[in-house]
Amino acid sequence: MAYDNDNIFAKILRGEIPAFKVHEDENVLAFMDIMPQADGHVLVIPKTPAVTLLDLPADAAATTIQAVQKVARGLKAALNVEGIVLMQLSGEAAGQTVPHVHFHLIPTHIHHLGKH
Ligand code: 5GP
Repeated sequence: MAYDNDNIFAKILRGEIPAFKVHEDENVLAFMDIMPQADGHVLVIPKTPAVTLLDLPADAAATTIQAVQKVARGLKAALNVEGIVLMQLSGEAAGQTVPHVHFHLIPTHIHHLGKH
């Protein structure tokens, strides 16, 4: 499938649509999911235009997974999460809805300080 420059994440990357950003560098952007499956649900995307993980050059895949790890550590530090589910849907058949490759980080078991 050809890359669609008008997909919603391309627009977020260009700043045409707002997003709550949690991390950005020259290679990647991380932002809060607009319909979170759990508190702290973050999406990490490469700036390289690619529809699925299979389309992503290896160097971009490497910098993206490094950013996933950085964001995961940030979630643990900021939200005191006990676990994080990492999800990546490649292809419509897998349930992918936005045609720009993205990794979901979905926290589980957030420990709220002061509670048991
Ligand atoms: P997929 O099903 O393609 O793996 O996930 C797409 C994700 O993008 C969904 O979790 C959805 O909530 C999120 N999403 C869709 N549109 C927007 C948007 O405009 N802004 C943000 N922040 N997230 C979006």
